[in-house]
Amino acid sequence: MDNWSTVILITAGLFAVAGLAVFALQSRREGERRAARRSAGLAVLGLALLALALVLPPAVQTVLALLLGVGVALAALLVSLPIGHVAAGHDTPQDRVDERETMFARARLKPGSPEYAAYYTHHPEHQAIDERIRALPGLLSPSSPKAHPLHFAAAEASFLIPGALREWVDGPVAADALTLTPDAATTYLKGLTRYYGARTAGIAALQPYHVYSHVGRGSGEYGAPLTVDDRYALAFTVEMAHALVGAAPDAPTVLETAKEYAVAAQIAVQLAAFIRALGYTARAHIDGNYRVIAPLVARDAGLGEIGRMGLLMTPQLGPRVRLGVVTTDMPLVVDGPTPRPDILDFCRVCKKCAENCPSRAIPFDDRQEIDGALRWQIDSGRCFHYWNVIGTDCGRCMSVCPYAHPDTLPHNVVRWASRHSGFARRVVLRLDDLFYGRQPPPRPAPTWTTVDLADK
Ligand code: SF4
Ligand code: SF4
Repeated sequence: MDNWSTVILITAGLFAVAGLAVFALQSRREGERRAARRSAGLAVLGLALLALALVLPPAVQTVLALLLGVGVALAALLVSLPIGHVAAGHDTPQDRVDERETMFARARLKPGSPEYAAYYTHHPEHQAIDERIRALPGLLSPSSPKAHPLHFAAAEASFLIPGALREWVDGPVAADALTLTPDAATTYLKGLTRYYGARTAGIAALQPYHVYSHVGRGSGEYGAPLTVDDRYALAFTVEMAHALVGAAPDAPTVLETAKEYAVAAQIAVQLAAFIRALGYTARAHIDGNYRVIAPLVARDAGLGEIGRMGLLMTPQLGPRVRLGVVTTDMPLVVDGPTPRPDILDFCRVCKKCAENCPSRAIPFDDRQEIDGALRWQIDSGRCFHYWNVIGTDCGRCMSVCPYAHPDTLPHNVVRWASRHSGFARRVVLRLDDLFYGRQPPPRPAPTWTTVDLADK
C-alpha cells in the first residue's frame, strides 16, 4: 500500500465504523433500540462507503482524503470557537424558602385543621390547585392509571425506611470532640460516604438560603422557625438505575425513586451518627424530613448545576440521582460551588425535558430572576397534579435528558466534548435527537419487573 490517501481513508473509515459498532452494542445493552438500530445501520453504510472508496482511482482517493482533512480542520476550528457562553454567577437566592409552601407540605394539610385554615388565609392563590390535587387518586393509589400491585407495594416498602429513620436524623453528641484537621476529617468523611454507597460527595459552607425558614413537614413543630446553626453541609448523590428510570412515567420508576430515597436516608443517618460519635453536631436530611433545600446545597458543594427541570444536573449522570445531606459543625474543607456554564448552556438550547413533560410544567424560556437569583422554575403545582393523577412520580423529564445516559466510555466522550465546546454541545444535541429521538418512547423495563399478574 503505497498511496498515502488510501491509508488515510482506511484508517478514518475503520475508526468510524468501529466506533459506531461499539456504540450499537452499548445501546443494545442499555435498552436503547432506536440508537442500536441507527448506529448499526450507519456502521454498515460506513463499511460500504469505505469499500466503494477503495475501488476508486487513486486520484479520486486523494481528493477524498484532502476533503476529509479539510473537514477535520473545519471541525477543529468550530469546536474551538467560543459559542454559547453563559456567564456564571447571579444564582444566589436572597430569601429563604418557607417549607410550608412546598407541594409536599401543602399536600399534608388536613381540611378543617387550624393549620389548613391558617395556610390558605395567607396563601389563597394555592387553594384551588391544592383542592384539585386532594380530589385525585394520589401517589401510589391502587385506583390510579399507572397502578401496579407489585411495584407499588415495593415502593411503599422502601418509603418505610426514611419514615422509620425520621426520628434518627439527630441525636446526642459525644461529650469529647476528637481533634481532627479539616483535611483529615473531609477525606475520611467523603470516603465513608462513598463506601456507604454514594456516587459523589462534596462539602458546602452552609448558607441561610440553604435552610428552610419554617418547618413544613417531618420532625419538629409545624410552622416553627428554623435557625442556621451548623457551618458545613456534606451533600452526596446516589445513582438511580438507568434501566428503571427509562420506563418513566410507568410504575418501575417510582419503585426506583423510593428505593434510592431509602438508600440516601440510610447513608445520611449513618453519617450523622458517625459525626456525633466524634463529638460534633450532625443532622441528617432525608426524604420527608429535610431542613435544607438539598439541590441548592449540592450545587454549592460542587456536585453540579440546577438545570431546566429544577433538579441538580450532575456532570456524570445529569439528573438521574437522588440527594442526601448532612449538616454539621465538624470543621471541613469546602469544595464548591464549582460553576458549570457548559451545563447551563446545554439546558438553554436543549429543552427536551420541557417538550416531553406531560403536564407542561417545565419552562421553555431562559432563566428568570427569582428572589435575586437566575434560575428555571418549574410549575410544581402542575407537576404534582400529574403525579397524583397517574399515581407515580412520573420522572419523564429525567428519563429523556441527554445527560442521563449511563456513565460509560462512549457517553463520557460526549460529556467531555460538551464540557469543552459550545459547538460540540449543539452537535451533541442533534445527535441525541438522531439516535434516541426528540420524543423517545419509554424504554422497556427489565424483564423481572414485567411478570404476568394472575388477576390481570
Ligand atoms: S433535558 Fe435538556 S434542558 Fe432538560 S435538564 Fe436535561 S439537558 Fe437540560
Ligand atoms: S416529573 Fe413529569 S410532570 Fe413533573 S416536571 Fe418532570 S416530566 Fe413534568
